[in-house]
Amino acid sequence: MRQLLGRTSYRGVTEEVYLAETVRCQDCRVTVPMGIEVVKRERKSKKLIKHSWYCRAHGAEYAARVMG
Ligand SMILES: [Zn+2]
Repeated sequence: MRQLLGRTSYRGVTEEVYLAETVRCQDCRVTVPMGIEVVKRERKSKKLIKHSWYCRAHGAEYAARVMG
C-alpha cells in the first residue's frame, strides 16, 4: 500500500512524496511499518533522478514540504 501525500515541482524536477508500507530508512537503517517514500523525476522526460525511503522522523521534512 502506498498513498500519495503530495507533489511539488521546481527547476524542472518533480518530487512526489508517498506514505508507504514497510520502509527501511536510509538514514537510520530502521525498518518501520509506515514510512515516507520520495520519488524525484525530471518533469519533461519523467526520468527517475532519485528514489529514497525514510522513517517518519527522517522523512518529516519531505512530507511537510508537499503537504504544507
Ligand atoms: Zn530514520
